[in-house]
Formats: sequence, structure tokens, C-alpha cells
Amino acid sequence: MYPLKHKISIGAFLIAAALLLGVLIFHALSDFPNDERFFYQVAPYLFALCAAVIITAPIILEANGHWLTFFISAVLVSIFSLGTGRHIYIFQTLVLLGLCIVVNTFSKKEIALLSRKSSAIERIEESTNMLESERIRTENLNDALSERLTRYRSLREIGETFSAGLSLQEIGQLAVDTAYNAIPGSDAALLFMVDEKKMRLELMASRKKSDLPKIKSKNGDIFDQWVFKERQPLNVSDINSDFRFDYKPLPGEREFGSLISVPLISQFRIVGLLRLNSKEKNAYSFDDLRLLDFTSDLVSSAVNNARLYDRTRELSVKDSLTGFYIHRYLKERLAEETEQAKVQHQPLSIVVMDIDHFKDYNDRYGHSAGDKVLLEISDIIRDNTKSGYVVARYGGEEFVMILPNTDKERAQALTESIREGISSHPFILRRQETHVTISAGVVSYIEEMKDSEGLLKAADFHLYRAKKEGRNKVCVG
Ligand code: GH3
Ligand code: MG
Ligand code: MG
Repeated sequence: MYPLKHKISIGAFLIAAALLLGVLIFHALSDFPNDERFFYQVAPYLFALCAAVIITAPIILEANGHWLTFFISAVLVSIFSLGTGRHIYIFQTLVLLGLCIVVNTFSKKEIALLSRKSSAIERIEESTNMLESERIRTENLNDALSERLTRYRSLREIGETFSAGLSLQEIGQLAVDTAYNAIPGSDAALLFMVDEKKMRLELMASRKKSDLPKIKSKNGDIFDQWVFKERQPLNVSDINSDFRFDYKPLPGEREFGSLISVPLISQFRIVGLLRLNSKEKNAYSFDDLRLLDFTSDLVSSAVNNARLYDRTRELSVKDSLTGFYIHRYLKERLAEETEQAKVQHQPLSIVVMDIDHFKDYNDRYGHSAGDKVLLEISDIIRDNTKSGYVVARYGGEEFVMILPNTDKERAQALTESIREGISSHPFILRRQETHVTISAGVVSYIEEMKDSEGLLKAADFHLYRAKKEGRNKVCVG
């Protein structure tokens, strides 16, 4: 009912008063009963103590406590009064006790009022505390909701951006930028794609803080290998204390304290992984991993779409037998490359190749044998060319090569090595070795100064010359 601190302070006061009284009584007893002056000194203290006890009793002992102390003090005072033989003390005692009762009655009312007030204050304090904890709870909820809202917005934006038709390279860069921005606190975001021929990871895109060293492990470290193998999301909150990994960074390698990484899964196959690093330990929450996982789903479907798109586009411009470009595409590219060579003053060479006496070969060994020859010749051409060169199957058994940034001499040398490669190649048909040769015409843009159509015609002319001069020959314009 009363606050504990009140009870303690009043109790302390009474103990102090009782000790003082004890000292006085001890003094008195040493002279008793001769020195009556003692009672003149003691009685006021005694009365004061009694009054204090009576007034404070309701506080200390609560209900009816004052009656007990009233009784004890009355008996004590009476003993002292009678002991001294001074009955005037009985009268004084009665007067004082009467006063005490009056004070006590008033103080009881006051105390009752106080206690009502204090319990009301306690109730108010309790309600205030409850309201405060409710406020904190609501504030936390509010923070969590606004964070979710921000994340929801960024997820929506991510979804919208990935749905636009992008190239693979653009998707890669967008993926690392998105992950880096959507999950704050990261030092680097990396996207690895699986090279399906070599069955290993290749770094495709990265985004990092400007002061970080270059990423050295282009094929992934042990954490990336784990995700690649397990095809599971990975959350390492402290790389030094995770028992699954014994990580030792290469000298000069980026250092980090924690990471999250998720696989990119497309049609039940792992096609890559998306990863975030932080220098700090415990940088990522479960929610961060979920957001990264969601981003990776969008990235893998965008990658899938882009690959399908590329594949469809390729199929529409490539010949199904040889895998070389078709006639229409060659014409478009030739016009572009001619324009570029003109603007940039760079050499450009064109080669037209035709199989010698192919009609006879077909007649002798059959059309499907001829197709096999076409296929093997395509492989020989492919082995001799590098990326950047455009090779097309021009007619049935004619091939055209556009060689950007290549002068006539280099073009001639290349064509010669293809011609030699074909003429020395044994085409095995029904366990029988056959041989085929080609003739070719080579021209270079800078010298001819013709448009793309003119270039093709010129190359054709030199091919015709090679045929006339006995075949299995390269003629240069
Ligand atoms: P030349 O040395 O003068 O070039 O003689 P050629 O017989 O090769 O004559 P040409 O270049 O006109 O060749 C046309 C022949 O190529 C006709 C056809 O039998 C063959 N041919 C064209 N396209 C194909 C094809 O897709 N498959 C097969 N097997 N043969 C083809
Ligand atoms: Mg021909
Ligand atoms: Mg021919």
C-alpha cells in the first residue's frame, strides 16, 4: 500500500530513536532511583518517541498497528511515572497521549488520503509504463513496416527493370547493381555464371566499393564452389568461425567478414550465382538473404529469356547444316562492316570460296555424302577463323568470309591455310578415303574502294579466275 522507500526511511528513523532511548535508559539505570533528574531528561524523548511511533505505526504496520504501539508506550510511561512517584507524569502522559490520538486520527486521515493519492499515482505510473511499452512496440512495428514497404518498392522496381528485353551483359550488370543497392552495407556484389562446357564458374559482372582491390578469383572461391555444388543459398555471418569453411584469402585478395550467396536456378539447372560480401561480421539478416534469393529468381528468368531470345535470333540468321550465317544476314553485315571500314579507315577483306566439281562429287557419292563434306569443310573453316570474323554459307556450296581489320595479305594467308586444310583432309565415305578441293577469290576494301555489293562481285570475279586457272587455288584481287 505504501511505497517501500517510505517504510524503509520511517523504519530507519524509529531504529535510530530506539537506540537513543536505549542509551538514555542505560544511563538512567546506572543511577536509578536516586537521580530523578534523569526522568526529567528522559521523559520528553520518551514521549516524543511514543508520539512518533503512534503516528508512523499505521504506515509501518498498517491496519491497527497504532493500537499496539499506543498500548506499549502508555505502559512504559506509566511505569516511569509510578517509578518516580511523580503522579503528575501520569497526568502529563494522559495529556500527551490524548494529543497523540488527536494527531494520529488526523494523520490517519491524511495518510489515507495520501495513500489513495499514491495508489492513484501508482496506477497512473503503471498505465504510463504500459503506454510507453506500447509506444515502443508500435514504433518498432512502424519501422519494420516502413522497411518492408521500401523493400517491396525496390522489389517491384527490380521486377519491372528485369522484365524489359535486355542483353545478357546488361542483365549481369543490372543484377549486381540491384543487389548492391537493395541490400545496404555490402562492400561488393558479384555475379558468376556457369560455363557449361568447362563446368566451372566465370565472373560475369561485379559492383564494389571503389577502394576495394580487384577481384582475383574469377572462377569463385570456396564459398562460391559450395553454392555451385550444393545449389543452396548460403549465409556466412563470420567467415573465420564458420566450421564448414577453412578460408584463407590469397595475398592481396579482398577481405570480408560475412557474405550471403544464392544460386541462379533455371529449369532445374544451376546457371550461376549472385553474392554479396561485407567487411563487417553479421552484416546480413535472414530478410536480406530472402531478398537476394528473390532477386536471383528474377535474374535467372531474365537470363533464361535473354538466352532464348539470342538462340531464336541466331536460329533465324544461321544455317542449320553448317551453323554459319545465312545469305540475308551476310548482306546486312557486309554493308555495316564496309561503312565502318570507310569511317575508321581500317582494312576490310572479303573471301568467297566454292567447292570444286561438287556436282560430280554428289553424283558419285550421293547427296547425303555431299552434305557430310559440307559439314566437315565448315569445321575446317571454323578452326581457321577467330571471333570477329563473319562466315556465311552463301549458296549451296559457297562460303563467304568478312574479315574486319584484316588486310589482303593476311586474308590471302588465311584463305590459303583453309584451302590447304581442305585439300589435305581425308573425307571418309563408306570406309573409303575421298578428297575435295576449293577455289577462292580474295579482295580488300581499301584498295577496291567499292560498296559492299561491288566488293562481293569483285571477290566472285577472282573466284571465277581461280576456277579458270585450274581450281584448288586462291586468287587475290
Ligand atoms: P565448279 O568447280 O565449277 O564449282 O563445279 P561445281 O560442280 O561445284 O558447280 P557449282 O559450283 O555450280 O556447284 C553446284 C552444285 O553443288 C550443285 C549441287 O549438286 C551441289 N550442291 C549445292 N548445294 C548443295 C547442298 O546443300 N548439298 C549437297 N550435297 N550438294 C549441294
Ligand atoms: Mg557453286
Ligand atoms: Mg562448285
